Formats: sequence, structure tokens, C-alpha cells
Amino acid sequence: MLIGVPKEIKNHEYRIGLTPAAVREYVAHGHDVMVENNGGAAIGFTNEDYELAGATIVSDPAEIFAKADMIIKVKEPQPNECMQLREGQILYTYLHLAPDPTQTELLAKSGVTAIAYETVTDRNGGLPLLAPMSEVAGRMSIQAGAHNLEKVNGGSGVLLGGVPGVEPGKVLVIGGGVVGTQAAKMAVGMGAEVTILDRSLPRLRQLDDIFAGRVKTIYSTVDAIDHFSRQADLVVGAVLIPGAAAPKLLTRDHLKNMKPGSVVVDVAIDQGGCFETSKATTHQEPTYIVDDIVHYCVANMPGGVARTSTIALNNATLPFGLALANHGLAAMESNEHLRDGLNMHKGKITYKAVHDDLGEKL
Ligand code: NAD
Repeated sequence: MLIGVPKEIKNHEYRIGLTPAAVREYVAHGHDVMVENNGGAAIGFTNEDYELAGATIVSDPAEIFAKADMIIKVKEPQPNECMQLREGQILYTYLHLAPDPTQTELLAKSGVTAIAYETVTDRNGGLPLLAPMSEVAGRMSIQAGAHNLEKVNGGSGVLLGGVPGVEPGKVLVIGGGVVGTQAAKMAVGMGAEVTILDRSLPRLRQLDDIFAGRVKTIYSTVDAIDHFSRQADLVVGAVLIPGAAAPKLLTRDHLKNMKPGSVVVDVAIDQGGCFETSKATTHQEPTYIVDDIVHYCVANMPGGVARTSTIALNNATLPFGLALANHGLAAMESNEHLRDGLNMHKGKITYKAVHDDLGEKL
């Protein structure tokens, strides 16, 4: 199969669909790979790295869209990319179609077969191609929090780990899933005092085992949020209710009781945010202050560490991508988890949740 990897064109998107290491895997399986000129240059993957891995460098993205049997990307295709896709071609990328009728309509018109990373499943009912980005965002949330606790960034001037003779900072993590666990790991690693709230008792049990007494696990109630947010130097919002907007768990009233200069990092902002005062921000202007509390609400946190995120994403996308390259659409017949990723085929929406939201509007 001929695989095409265009450079991402969304503003400040530096990730790329394939790393040179992944290209090498496709080539080893007998496939040809075209990569757009300087497609990975911003994150240290040079044209030479791709050529050494066996790819051909192509200057004009139109050539990639015209010739490739499968296009591998990171972000949803932008309108002028959608218009270059065609029937018989596979698109393998993040799509997030439900809130995006324009893209859905353009993909339907193109006739392309679109497989969305975010709906591919695993045997435990998890979302294996979303998990790596949650891992990145979770780990990054503590880095962002620690940075913004510094005085010069509007914070209270607390060092999360403290120093010998000085007590550490207190971190409250609301939601102990993938993001919350990785956030807690980083906070524990820094030496902070960490409390995790979750609504799932089985999850709290697992966390208790994982951290072996190094974190407090508390059942998530309004009372618990009230109590622990008053003491916290950093609150990380990491809840997810699948298919629903995030519940507003930390309210403006809670903020008023928090210590001035404390930091809140709302990782769930891509689902609307789980703090009442959250509004989406960007890497260019990541923070704002409400009632003396620094808010960090970047909607695409992994984009900030694009090199790590690209490699993490490729680790997860590679097996499914190789199956598609090796077997074409037939790969989905034998792999129900990959089939769950199918969102569009020949102008039709093939994913139920997207169809329920948008089917009538098209
Ligand atoms: P997850 O499903 O692994 O974990 C969510 C956890 O929230 C679960 O353990 C669940 O029991 C818990 N929860 C639900 N209701 C709760 C409540 N009322 N109180 C406490 N806990 C509650 O999800 P995840 O992968 O960790 O993702 C968390 C959020 O981070 C999602 O909204 C996801 O979209 C978002 N995210 C954002 C970025 C970004 O760049 N901003 C990147 C990756 C993920």
C-alpha cells in the first residue's frame, strides 16, 4: 500500500502522523511511504531521518492526497484537506466528528473511508489511541501547575516538593482515571502531598494499591471537594463521564475558600471543563486569574510536548495502522476493535454516536 503523511496544517500543531521509526515498520512490511517535506522538522524528525527509514519526501501535499491509498495524520482534516480526499482512500487520524458537522459533511462528500483514533477500542472497553494523550496531559498537568505556582506567574510561591524542613505543597486530583493517575505519579515524584478523589470505588481500590499508601484516596463528594480544595496549592481536574459534558465540580464558591495564588489545572476542558470558572486557553496564553486563583485550561495540552506526544501516539496507532496497510478494509472484518474506529464510509456515517448527533443534519 502507498501511505501518505502530510504535514499538519492546524495552527501550532507540530505533531506528525508517523515517526521515522514507524515509517521503517511500514517499509519493512513492504509498503511505500510518502512524507511531506519538513513534516516532522519542528520536532526534530528531519527529512533525512525519514529518507533513512525508507520514506520518499514529497514537496507538494496535493501529490500525497492524490496518490496515497491511506493518509495518516494526527488532527482532523482541515476543509482544504477534506476536499482532496476521495472514495477508495483510507483516512486514519483523530476526527472528533460529533461536534463538527462541517467536517462530517465534507468527509461524506469525499466518499473517503475514515477511521477515527478516538473510537478504536480495546478488549477492556478502553480507548487505546486516546490513552497516550491522557497520559501526556496528566503528567504535564503537574509541570504546568508547578510552573504557575511560581510568584512571577501569579502563583503563591509554593514549591510542590518543599525542601527539608519545609512542608511540601498539597495537590488535589479530581478524577483518578488515566489523566489523574499520571498526574498523581508526577506529584508524588516531586514530593508533594497528594489526594485523589473519584466516584468509582473499584478505581479508588486500584489507586490505593498502585500508590501503596503514598496518596490519600477519597470518595468524591461535594463535601470532599469543599474540604480538600481549601487546603490545596494545586487542583487538577481530570474527570470524564463518557459521552457527556464534564460536571462542574469545583465551583466559584469553592475558589473563594481557596488560598490566594493557588493553581487549578482543568485537563477536562476539552469536555467543557470540570471547574465552573474554566474557559479554554491556548499554549500561547495558557492562564488567567479568577478570584486570585491561577487557571490553566489548555484544550490541547499534548500539542505542547509534540515530540513526546507524537512518539506516544505512534506506539498506539502503529499496530492498527499496519493491519490496515497489510489487509486493507478487510482488517476490520477480523478486528472488532479496529472496526469500532470506522466513522465514515462512502459518504455514510458508520459510527452510531456520530450518526445519532449528526445523521439527520446531513
Ligand atoms: P478516564 O475515563 O480514564 O478517567 C476519568 C475518571 O473520572 C474516572 O476514573 C471516573 O470514575 C472519574 N469520575 C467521574 N465522575 C467523577 C466525579 N464526580 N468525581 C470524581 N471523579 C469522577 O478519563 P481520562 O482519560 O483520564 O480523561 C480525563 C479528561 O481529560 C477527559 O475529559 C479527557 O478528554 C481529558 N483530556 C484532556 C486533554 C487536554 O489536552 N486538555 C488531553 C487528554 C485528555
